[in-house]
Amino acid sequence: MRVLVTGGAGFIGAHMCRALAARPEVGHITVLDDLSSGDLTNLDGVEATVVTGSILDRDLLTDLVAGATHVIHLAARPSVPRSLADPLASHAVNATGTLHVLEACRASRPHVILASSSSVYGDSSAPRKHEDLPTRPLSPYGAGKLAAEAYALAYAHSYGLPVLPFRFFNVYGPLQSARHAYAAVIPAFVSAALRGEPVPLHGDGLQSRDFTYVDSVTRVLAEAAAHRMTSAKPVNLAFGTLVSLRHLMGVLAEILGRPVEETCLPPRPGDIRHSQASPHLLRELFPDVRPVPLEDGLRTTVAWFERTQVP
Ligand code: NAD
Repeated sequence: MRVLVTGGAGFIGAHMCRALAARPEVGHITVLDDLSSGDLTNLDGVEATVVTGSILDRDLLTDLVAGATHVIHLAARPSVPRSLADPLASHAVNATGTLHVLEACRASRPHVILASSSSVYGDSSAPRKHEDLPTRPLSPYGAGKLAAEAYALAYAHSYGLPVLPFRFFNVYGPLQSARHAYAAVIPAFVSAALRGEPVPLHGDGLQSRDFTYVDSVTRVLAEAAAHRMTSAKPVNLAFGTLVSLRHLMGVLAEILGRPVEETCLPPRPGDIRHSQASPHLLRELFPDVRPVPLEDGLRTTVAWFERTQVP
């Protein structure tokens, strides 16, 4: 396997490259990343050819795809609030950029895995989001991801491109950045708590998420790539565990051995109240992949922040 990982210097991308490098069937890894939110140090110790550039550079993309048997497309502007602040920039990378990736793959037809998002479901009243529910994104980010997965499936139908879009839920783990204003909830909480500051809590804290430890994500993606698995619809990549932000704070307090204070902030526009996956299709396709319990994944994440966070 010769794998091109777009967004490979990002949080999930760097874990993906590590997971691929450990597999005997993987011969070569190329990363394409513009380093807009990724960091080369995430790839320290990983044997890969790293190309700094954008998926919006069509010539570069065509060259890189020509040498690949597999493409794992993770590059994106991955944030709901960021997409609300600049929807055109979000669309350019997440929707148009994905179309560029698919177009570059049209002739040589490598196997393509795509990162979509639970945000495509919006605030559907169904308690568990299953793949056949109607989609109703609430943010430009969700709309861009919906366009991306729709294009991928259209390329499969129109050109026979072997594709597998996954809908990630809330992925967390080491390397996830807490540095910018758009940080995801777990890095934002862990980082603040370790500095002894109150965690930034938007809304009443009873909103809930289906947190997925990053190793489960990379394991599923690596298996899917190795077996060139395809699907006629996007597949949820989460295990159906529902954790409120208040519960998350409690688990964090237990791990740290001290109480975690909060700063109450207004609810964020575009945020979904409850986000829980139906994991049935995932379990059917990947029966051997088990979820990592929140306590274990969070402990490893806290340990990473303790090692790397500059006080
Ligand atoms: P990340 O920001 O760490 O990674 C995204 C990477 O894409 C970064 O390295 C960034 O530099 C790169 N990138 C951005 N624009 C680019 C461009 N034009 N050309 C090349 N590279 C570019 O975020 P992440 O959490 O690792 O997300 C990876 C993927 O998973 C994204 O597609 C994201 O939308 C999706 N996703 C993530 C989550 C989550 O909880 N982390 C949830 C749902 C979906």
